[in-house]
Parts: sequence; structure tokens; C-alpha cells
Amino acid sequence: MQKVAHIVGAGISGLSAAVRLANANFKVRVYEATQQAGGRCRSYFDAATNLTIDNGNHLLLSGNHHALAYAKSIGTEAGLVGPARAQFPFVDLKSGKRWQLDLGDGRLPLWLFDPLRRVPDTALRDYLALMPLIWSSSKRLVGNAIPCNGILYQRLVQPLLLAALNVDPPTGSAGLAGAVVRETLLAGGHACRPLIAREGLSAVLIEPAVKLLQERGADIRFGYELRKLDSAAGCVNALNFGDEAIPLAASDVVILAVPPRPAASLLPGLKTPSDFRAIVNAHFRIEPPAGSAPILGVVGGLVEWIFAFPQRLSITISGADRLVDMPREELAQALWRDICQACGIAAELPPWQIVRERRATFAATPEQNVLRPGATTAFKNLFLAGDWTDTGLPATIEGSVRSGDRAADLALAMD
Ligand SMILES: Cc1cc2nc3c(=O)[nH]c(=O)nc-3n(C[C@H](O)[C@H](O)[C@H](O)COP(=O)(O)OP(=O)(O)OC[C@H]3O[C@@H](n4cnc5c(N)ncnc54)[C@H](O)[C@@H]3O)c2cc1C
Repeated sequence: MQKVAHIVGAGISGLSAAVRLANANFKVRVYEATQQAGGRCRSYFDAATNLTIDNGNHLLLSGNHHALAYAKSIGTEAGLVGPARAQFPFVDLKSGKRWQLDLGDGRLPLWLFDPLRRVPDTALRDYLALMPLIWSSSKRLVGNAIPCNGILYQRLVQPLLLAALNVDPPTGSAGLAGAVVRETLLAGGHACRPLIAREGLSAVLIEPAVKLLQERGADIRFGYELRKLDSAAGCVNALNFGDEAIPLAASDVVILAVPPRPAASLLPGLKTPSDFRAIVNAHFRIEPPAGSAPILGVVGGLVEWIFAFPQRLSITISGADRLVDMPREELAQALWRDICQACGIAAELPPWQIVRERRATFAATPEQNVLRPGATTAFKNLFLAGDWTDTGLPATIEGSVRSGDRAADLALAMD
């Protein structure tokens, strides 16, 4: 008899679990509270810019193996595009200095030994001072593990760790930061090529998964918000959506792939991260100047990263709680000034949109990290997935896919 998997939440973690189980011949049912799949990783049409935009610019790296395998499994690996080498141009808006970090394309971090490929005005010993991060405990603070000052910090470590952890780096978990460094910088340029879903997050990472699941006979229901899990004898035996309860057979498995807050209310007593940080993205309708890099790192300004897409320039600011209540027009003007300086543009503010995700990710601090549960629960047939579960990584697509894969593997192993 075909086994049934009920996946609650159609974000990246839920979809990756669903695809894995559909490929393993499970009958898959997905329940999503909203009318759209993708969760925090989605696209939509925006009337202000007259463009389809993403809720946030999402950067993957070529070392994000689970995320790439997921894209491959839904046939869209080629939709993740980036330069042939791991090159990251930067500009410092205060000094006007420009440089390019060139991590190359090898499997060893040989760039560290080449002054022309390193961050300018840094020496090998500055990088060696980062070593304690590599195998640090997740209970340790970044600020207690490595020097959080100096040129290397300002020009590379701070931008990288702020983007990865979404907290002010010294307050972040050294263990989580170390995992990022091990899997990227330390693994050579081969693992650091920046990849972007140029045609949009939904077109590359979400809609093809939904289509594939439907082709495999999956039942995907939107507007289904799980309100309660009914249980008996240590197993979940019904999913309660308010006006509809779906009974489960003894062999059915449930994967709860919802954010921490709904997970905690559905599973009283479950410890989850409770402190979140905002990410601000803004999109400006303008053709990027000829020769624009796909991603430009910006230091010394409000803007942190500039992404060049067809017909638009988009920016990202992490750990952006200070900006969530700033008047929108004022914020747009300030961001546009940074973009003009960074990209050498002399133009009035074009049509724009600002997207402020207040609870973009959990705060990757040691205190929050210990609140992340594993995938198993008190119920034999219920597993957790989500970027906030204990993946060993900060809240990223890579962590999210890993959590979905792990939950699916546990479902497969259930007898
Ligand atoms: C602005 C922004 C920028 C980011 N940038 C990057 C980046 O550059 N690189 C990167 O790797 N990661 C980035 N991330 C993180 C990445 O988006 C997340 O790690 C990933 O999308 C999380 O997926 P998830 O499935 O774990 O959770 P979610 O996307 O939160 O999915 C959970 C789903 O569950 C649904 N749901 C909630 N409650 C219920 C319920 N009761 N019943 C049914 N459904 C329910 C939700 O509607 C949602 O669809 C960024 C995130 C944001 C917000």
C-alpha cells in the first residue's frame, strides 16, 4: 500500500521534504496556510515598479550542496546563475575605494596567499586570526572568538557574517559562523561562487517543485492553516484545520514545516527560537549600468549588497530592525543615494518598492541556537522541518533544504 505523507507548510523546507518523499513513491499531501507556496522565499507582482519582484534577494553559494541538489531534483539547477569564478567586487562609500575579492575556482583557499586576491591592506596573519572561529562551540560569541575590528573585519568578516547570521556579528554564535566559514571560504572558490535565481525565486525554486509534485499526483491545498494536531497512543491521528479535520491512517507520516511560532502553538512545550531579526530589501526600476556586477558588496553606507537584475537594481540590508519604522519615502531616498554613489548613476529616484520582513530569520545568537529542536518529536509519526530547527547552520535556504531532507529521511526510515 502506498504510504501517505502530510506536509504542513509549503516553504522551501516543506517542498524539499515533499519532493523527496514523492520521489520515494509516497502519496504526498501539502497544506499551506496562505494562497501561495514559498513562504519567506517567494516572488510576486509589484504594481509600484510594474515588475515581478522577490520578497528578498536570496544569495546561494556553489557550496550549498543540499540547495543545489534540491534545484536539480526539480529540474532548475540551471536557473541559479552566477559568475564563473568566485569574485566579489566591493566599494567603500566613505573612502570611495573599490576592490575585488577573488576566491578563484579551486577547492583550496589559495587566494589567502595572494595579496592581489585578498582584501586590500590585509596580511595573511589577519586571516589566521580567524582560525578560532572554524571549530568554535555554538555557545561561544563571535566577539569572544575573533577580533571584531580592523580592516579585514570591516571589509570582509563583518559583511559576510552579518549577511549569514542576520545579527550584529560580535553577538552571533561562533559555532554557526564557523559552519558558514568551513563550508564556504575555507572550501575554496569552488564552494563560493555566488548564485542567484535571476528569473525570480518562485520561478526557479518554488513553482517547478509545485508542478513536479502535482505531476506525481500530490494534493496541494492552499488556504489550509493547521490549527491543531490530534493524537492518540503517541501518534498524530488527525490534522485539524478548523472547519475540516483530516483523519490519518496508522502508517501516515506528518512533517510540520511551519515557522517557530505556529510550531510552538501546535506543539505546546516545544522549545523554539523566540528572537527574530528583520531584513530590508528595496527594488528600484532601472536598467543596471552596463558592466554591473551581479552582486556588489557595499561598506560604509546604509546599503549592504546591490543585486543587478534585468530592469532593476535591488538592495539588501540585514539585521535591519532599526529601519523597519523609518518613513518609506525617506528610506527609499537614502538607499537611492547609496546606489547612485556605488554604481556611478546620476538619476532621480526611479519607481521603487521597499519590502521589510520584520521576522526574516531567528537571531543566530548562542542563546537562540540552543532553543532549536531536532527533527524528531514526542510523536512517532511527526517530524519537524524549517530553517529554525537544529540544522547546524544559520537560517538559510541551505539549512532549510537540509531540514526538509532530514525530516523526509526520518519518514522513510519509519516502519
Ligand atoms: C528577506 C529575506 C532574505 C533572505 N535572504 C537569504 C539569502 O540570501 N540566502 C539564504 O540562503 N537564505 C535567505 N533567507 C532565508 C530563507 O528565505 C529561509 O531560510 C527559507 O525560505 C525558510 O524556509 P522554511 O521552509 O524553513 O520556512 P518558511 O519559508 O517560513 O515556510 C513556512 C511555511 O509554512 C506556512 N505556514 C505557517 N503556519 C502554517 C500553518 N499553521 N498551517 C499551514 N501552513 C503554515 C507559511 O505560510 C510558510 O509558507 C532570507 C529570508 C528573508 C526573509
